[in-house]
Amino acid sequence: MKTITCKQLGGACDKKFHAASFDEIAAMSKQHGTEMFQKKDAAHLKAMNEMQELMKKPEAMKKWFENKKKEFEALPEEKNGGNATNQQHT
Ligand SMILES: [Zn+2]
Repeated sequence: MKTITCKQLGGACDKKFHAASFDEIAAMSKQHGTEMFQKKDAAHLKAMNEMQELMKKPEAMKKWFENKKKEFEALPEEKNGGNATNQQHT
């Protein structure tokens, strides 16, 4: 399981996505983007515009996607149950 933020994916907020594969992350990020688009969130609309510019250039888009995938794969793997640092001893 890995965590990546909306911002790290070229988005506009610190929303965290958790998934084991980049494909899942891409799907989650897409869904989140659609939600933000429907809410007309200005920051996300701007980020989406930039993405659409990028999509006009298939080579640049491919490169971007591969870079993000690499970035995701380089992230540390999280152990199940994750929040160990937040546990308090009573
Ligand atoms: Zn976002």
